[in-house]
Amino acid sequence: MDEFLTALGAIRGLYLLEEYPASKLTTFEIGGPIAYVLYPQSIPALVKTLRVCHLFGIPWRVIGRGSNLLARDEGYAGAWIMTEGCNRVRFCGCHAEAECGISLAALTEECAARGLGGLENLWGIPGTLGGACVMNAGAFGTRICDLVQAVNVYDPVLDRHSVLGFDACLFGYRESVFQHDPLVVTGVSLRLANSRTDLVRSHMDRVGRKREASQPLEYPSAGSVFRRPAGAYAGRLIQEAGLSGYRIGGAAVSEKHAGFIVNLGGASAKNVRDLIGHIQKAVYQRSGILLKTELIEE
Ligand SMILES: Cc1cc2nc3c(=O)[nH]c(=O)nc-3n(C[C@H](O)[C@H](O)[C@H](O)COP(=O)(O)OP(=O)(O)OC[C@H]3O[C@@H](n4cnc5c(N)ncnc54)[C@H](O)[C@@H]3O)c2cc1C
Repeated sequence: MDEFLTALGAIRGLYLLEEYPASKLTTFEIGGPIAYVLYPQSIPALVKTLRVCHLFGIPWRVIGRGSNLLARDEGYAGAWIMTEGCNRVRFCGCHAEAECGISLAALTEECAARGLGGLENLWGIPGTLGGACVMNAGAFGTRICDLVQAVNVYDPVLDRHSVLGFDACLFGYRESVFQHDPLVVTGVSLRLANSRTDLVRSHMDRVGRKREASQPLEYPSAGSVFRRPAGAYAGRLIQEAGLSGYRIGGAAVSEKHAGFIVNLGGASAKNVRDLIGHIQKAVYQRSGILLKTELIEE
């Protein structure tokens, strides 16, 4: 491991934490120690970090803001490579070229300041642009794929950069090729809409108020836990199964939005998994619908 750390030490603009709890890296505030938490501050540093992990056979995950993750209680004996330092963005008219680690919030603010719209409905999603592409994040009728023109990726196995056009990203409902192929999203080309700063900002405010009114933002969570089943809403099915407020350990079904599981304090990943299983069983028995999770277990 000394050689691994030495090789990482040679990468300019890389910060390292050892044995750091995933509970401090995820919005759910759940998860045990991650052996290496690596913060590259540029795309070249991100790629070098991936090369070093590959070379030394260290398992790795690329992580945005950890806002769609359930991290394991026992932790992870590999590296979490955090993208938040890769956050540059360049504008050219209605087009933006942004790095993977920029937060959706910062990107939407930047767009607003330039009078560019398109991202307002995603305001309040606490993830990065890279994570949003992987999940094809969406809200209030807009999905990130509605703005994506192309995605820059790095393949750590082939040590190759490439650009995927929209069609190659295979976007679907909370779906993309990036959930299946071991590709790292390094940057995204977006097409925005000409608008006005005041209009964009007032739209963002409306969306923020809707979220505050309908989501349990006062508790740690990973957002909606379940995918929307065809022709139904997961939250409503869970509510109709009488599970609002149902609790296992520190994990509970939110009373404000039954599609959210919240961490009331000290929840473990096992509490969350057990609660998910209980919800799936109860909803299936009542409605015949099997809820599938949107949450990613790392
Ligand atoms: C309060 C709250 C509200 C939410 N509301 C919404 C909502 O309205 N709509 C919605 O869709 N989601 C919502 N979410 C879920 C979440 O914010 C989104 O899925 C978000 O897009 C995840 O981004 P992230 O950067 O946090 O990704 P992470 O959670 O860090 O990662 C998600 C997955 O993407 C992978 N990944 C991340 N970055 C990269 C990269 N650069 N290259 C390759 N793989 C990568 C990770 O390995 C992981 O598998 C909400 C979450 C919370 C806590």
